[in-house]
Amino acid sequence: MKYLFSTILAVAFVLESFGQRFQAGAIRKHIEFLASDDLEGRGTASLGEIRAANYIVAAFKAAGLKPAGTRGYFQPFEVTFGIDGEAHDLTGRNVAGFLDNGAPKTIVIGAHYDHLGKGFQGSSLSPDSKNKIHNGADDNASGTAGVLELARYFAGNNVKEKHNFLFITFSGEELGLIGSKHYVEKPTLPLNTFSAMINMDMIGRLDERKGIIVSGWGTSSVWGKLIPDLAKRQNLKYTVDSSGVGASDHTSFYLKNIPVVQFFTGSHGDYHKISDDPEKINYEGEARILALISDLLESLDKETADPEFVTAGNPHSGATTSNFKVTLGVMPDYSYTGEGLKIDGVSKARPAEKAGIVVGDIITKLGGEPIGTIYDYMEILGKHEKGETVEVELQRGGETKVVKVTF
Ligand SMILES: [Zn+2]
Repeated sequence: MKYLFSTILAVAFVLESFGQRFQAGAIRKHIEFLASDDLEGRGTASLGEIRAANYIVAAFKAAGLKPAGTRGYFQPFEVTFGIDGEAHDLTGRNVAGFLDNGAPKTIVIGAHYDHLGKGFQGSSLSPDSKNKIHNGADDNASGTAGVLELARYFAGNNVKEKHNFLFITFSGEELGLIGSKHYVEKPTLPLNTFSAMINMDMIGRLDERKGIIVSGWGTSSVWGKLIPDLAKRQNLKYTVDSSGVGASDHTSFYLKNIPVVQFFTGSHGDYHKISDDPEKINYEGEARILALISDLLESLDKETADPEFVTAGNPHSGATTSNFKVTLGVMPDYSYTGEGLKIDGVSKARPAEKAGIVVGDIITKLGGEPIGTIYDYMEILGKHEKGETVEVELQRGGETKVVKVTF
């Protein structure tokens, strides 16, 4: 039965890879337009920003999304920033499209589409950056392309999901999350109907060895429940960061008690420089990340209950979590913030169950090494091999116990 099952999975995998959901060519087309010199770096409230916004509207219309701004698809907002030392009040705009499935709850899929323009708005890291176009291909034409492609996929998949989807691209992000802050203060749909928010900021530079960085992991246990298996399916390594507060728009939603998750392929030497250009994008890599995110959205949609919001702990950049050869067969309690690894679930016939580990146990040592957080646990797992037997120290009902686990 085991072999039959693996064969079915293998066939399903092959079929999936032939009929790829996301095409590198389509992603390239979006990024090459948004990050072209014509758009002059999409500075908030600039002509380039407006032209990018028009492009996004055209894509939302083509997908058949309903307008979800305050002025059609647009949601204009006032923004004040300094240009050459003088403060100016200007108008930026978010762009929002709604896939209405007639459901009570909505999942938000977002990315910022503004960038640094021609370097007058500050935060450029290029020397002599004034009057030079900052194309922002990775930051964040890549995430914008992600929103457009996910909108196209979900609007065209002939499935009526149990949730609606709000596709939204923010401006004013580079000036301090202005557009997303404005959205959550003046939402065009009630905030209490939002189940979760998924953000993409810089997803264009996938490096296979490093994988992706998933933030907001600690804002709901649902991310730890769903993402590990889905990442494996796309053969994507990942690193997690528990915090819901970070340098992108998911923060605005997290601060309204909405579970958030943010995808990022990591920083690089072209970050916030005039050299962040389309030819440096890994288009195939982005297609795989979008496949992972669409799988995540589908799994999230099928959950029987809405994801529970958890106030996440401090920012914590963790170790790579997907390259270990052994596991205990436990579901960690991602919302537990004390010392050790708290067990939320135990898989049948796996090492932990065989060793007598039960739900509620808190593992404090593994193979002689102390476990402070889930990240320590993941790091320690990476040091062990199949067939090895190690001691596990755990807390159960105030008592310390030691059991032997064979991987
Ligand atoms: Zn960005």
